[in-house]
Amino acid sequence: MSVDDINDLNDLTLTDKWAPQLGYAEDPETPLTADTFPSKSGGKPAWLNPEHVLTVDQVTCSSCEQPMVLLLQLYTPEDHPPQAFHRTVYVFCCKNGACVKQDWTKCFKVFRSQLAQDNAYYPADEDDTTYVAKPFQAPKLCAICGVAGPKVCGQCHSVNYCSREHQMVDWNMCQHKQHCKANTHSDDVDRLRHARIFTEKEIVSEPEGKGEDGAEEEAQAAFSQANGTTDTTTSTALVPAGEETAEDSKVTVDDCFLRFQLKLQLYPDQVLRYDRVEYDMPDREPLWVQEGQKPKDVPACVHCGGPRTFEFQILSTLLNFLGVSHLAADSLDWGALYIYTCKHNCDLGEKALVPEFIWKQDFSSDSMNFDGGGNLD
Ligand SMILES: [Zn+2]
Ligand SMILES: [Zn+2]
Ligand SMILES: [Zn+2]
Ligand SMILES: [Zn+2]
Repeated sequence: MSVDDINDLNDLTLTDKWAPQLGYAEDPETPLTADTFPSKSGGKPAWLNPEHVLTVDQVTCSSCEQPMVLLLQLYTPEDHPPQAFHRTVYVFCCKNGACVKQDWTKCFKVFRSQLAQDNAYYPADEDDTTYVAKPFQAPKLCAICGVAGPKVCGQCHSVNYCSREHQMVDWNMCQHKQHCKANTHSDDVDRLRHARIFTEKEIVSEPEGKGEDGAEEEAQAAFSQANGTTDTTTSTALVPAGEETAEDSKVTVDDCFLRFQLKLQLYPDQVLRYDRVEYDMPDREPLWVQEGQKPKDVPACVHCGGPRTFEFQILSTLLNFLGVSHLAADSLDWGALYIYTCKHNCDLGEKALVPEFIWKQDFSSDSMNFDGGGNLD
């Protein structure tokens, strides 16, 4: 869809029949355990299927070869098929920003997990007090990152790890060296271990445009401001002030980026946009950060061979909640991350988790191009 001028853009943006759900990061009020079916960023994974979890080789960065950590998991139950009654999508990423800068395709993994309403782990009905979970051998989990932990500390035999890397991290940086023999524990240990993964936040959501405080008026106000009639002095200012902008200047702005900015300005705290809000709705176009860097084709579902469609995107605002430093030159960064999943939520059968597709866009340095000409003063 092409957008010729800002007025068209304005109309287009406000009349969205299928408003996405916007996700916000908040401090969890209660522990985000698997049986609460959480949507969250950071922390250790809460495994929907507690019996079959990811192993470190499934989430190792193929650039630095270090284990990735959980970036986010979203609980997204679906009506169809019945096997997707419970459904969680996991996104993992390498914490090393330098890796991501070098070749991001090696640094992210997405997995989909599903369970039918009748399953071995959770009562079909929340109020069913007679429900008894099937006994199963719960896998040992890594003390640092929470994926499968088949390795165990050889001295105390009481702490498990996914990999030698995380064993070393625990020993040298999380005080296991001090606590191992004595078999002691301290809050410091927990704190240090948590610092190795992303900070845990709950992701809560509400439909775009349905917020409290008369969001619609706010939206209009934000649009007028964004339309360039106000002097915008922040680094996000795109369109120079003054009416000549819309009239006859040779300013060329990436329409994608402009639209992206407007959408973000309305609800600046959003960290995620979930775009499969109704069953059988038309396939949705992501909110692109820029016109370039779109995926040429999205590969088919590796499990059923059917199409994958866009499901949600993670915004750069989430970076503010992960507990990573923005100051380092090699800090983790993205414009947006786009998650595509099997359109039909195909039944995973014996598999607990299947890979899905992720795409990344960066903020472009040419989001604003002044095409010679002047007219800017
Ligand atoms: Zn890496
Ligand atoms: Zn680990
Ligand atoms: Zn030990
Ligand atoms: Zn599929």
